[in-house]
Amino acid sequence: MNETAIAPPSLHPHRQVEFDRSMRPSGIALTPGIAICQTDLPIDWYQAELKPYAEEYLALPDRTPETVLPWMDSYMVPALRELGDSVMLLAHFYMGGEIVKLVERYGGFVADSYALALQAVRNPGKTHFVESAVHFMAETIALLKHEHQSVWITNPKSGCTMEALAKEDMVLPVFRELRDRYGDDLLAIVYMNASGRVKAMAGQTGGAVCTSSNAKTIMRWAYEQSPRKKILFIPDRHLGENSGRAIGIPPDRMAHWPGGWDGARRRMAHLSAQELDALDRAELVLWGSFCGVHTIFRPEHVAYWQTRGYRVIVHPESPWEVVQAADGHGSTNYLWSAVMDASPGAKIAVGTEGHFVRNAREQAAQRGVEVVHLADIPDPSFGAVGCGCATMSRNDPPHLVGLLDLLAKGRAPELNRVLAGDSVDETTGWRERLDPRSQAEIRTDARRALEKMIELTEGAKS
Ligand code: SF4
Repeated sequence: MNETAIAPPSLHPHRQVEFDRSMRPSGIALTPGIAICQTDLPIDWYQAELKPYAEEYLALPDRTPETVLPWMDSYMVPALRELGDSVMLLAHFYMGGEIVKLVERYGGFVADSYALALQAVRNPGKTHFVESAVHFMAETIALLKHEHQSVWITNPKSGCTMEALAKEDMVLPVFRELRDRYGDDLLAIVYMNASGRVKAMAGQTGGAVCTSSNAKTIMRWAYEQSPRKKILFIPDRHLGENSGRAIGIPPDRMAHWPGGWDGARRRMAHLSAQELDALDRAELVLWGSFCGVHTIFRPEHVAYWQTRGYRVIVHPESPWEVVQAADGHGSTNYLWSAVMDASPGAKIAVGTEGHFVRNAREQAAQRGVEVVHLADIPDPSFGAVGCGCATMSRNDPPHLVGLLDLLAKGRAPELNRVLAGDSVDETTGWRERLDPRSQAEIRTDARRALEKMIELTEGAKS
């Protein structure tokens, strides 16, 4: 990829970033090696307020950096000048479609979900946070923010398939039944990839939120409670199982509850005596949600690369058998550091989200380190290819440009504002907002669980 001829905007001259020259309609760059787990957004997918920006964008010749960047600058530079230091642009590592580079170009901050969650609370001088990532990340910022701050997501349809299998309506009936049966013995740990309403359940039991980077720390804390608690882990069954095994919870003390509507419909009264006994004896109950991007990995993928001299590292949302077979596992930060710290000549297969691996591969290549995606195996009999997070990549240049322009003009759509307790339909973008009292209740409970996570995480660092 050649360096773009377009200068970065004068407002943020700190960094020159390079762009994939194959920007496609909707700005989602399809690079060889990343399967099309995401598709170009048809124009009717843009909410009414953002359609004019999408139409302009789609009319740009070829949508190469030479046409896209001046178009973006024509909106972004005046908007950033108008908003001044009050605004902070945010993106997650997994973002595709060059959004990570665009957010960096305009002076934004790119990080994992833990670091993103803390940005409002750590930057009281900023009043507007504009996030290009998925909804649960934006809502977490809103749960922790100061009163005077506002949080916006560039595309409200950017959901998370794992979160979608653990909506409040699905989890709440089960949570209530478990609390009825186990009372104060039940302690919920809720992975960051869940709504504020589900995070609030952790707070109600005295539990905590966790991320992939601190899940083991949080799980150990929960397991070491005296008297011992029954841990309910929501929503990712794989992260829950991997973290539980890592601290020594035996697999026969883990109970699996289905995810999605299957889980919601399952009732204690439906369980056989044997199932009920297993549930009573379980130290860890795992809600059965998962991430499709991470569950394509199989131990055969690991063996394929290991026999060819590659070190294999995977994200803990991968199944236990894969984590077991790999040479290392950990959060996005762990994976990134493992690649960046590798010696020249090293060969690494990474099992996680496709855009992240592509970015790591580009960076590592400059240092003579070879990076491949764990599932990108040039043998069709393996039947799987690595893919990117489709929902996250629903944020594209017209969404970023349109929202920032409208925000600067005082006309940002309410649909894009993110408040504690909002529930979003990722298909339609429709947002269900709670009344102020219920909102405050969710905020209090979810915040308690988030603050417990922060306390334990920061404590473990010191
Ligand atoms: S990669 Fe998976 S868990 Fe992460 S946001 Fe996308 S769908 Fe959700």
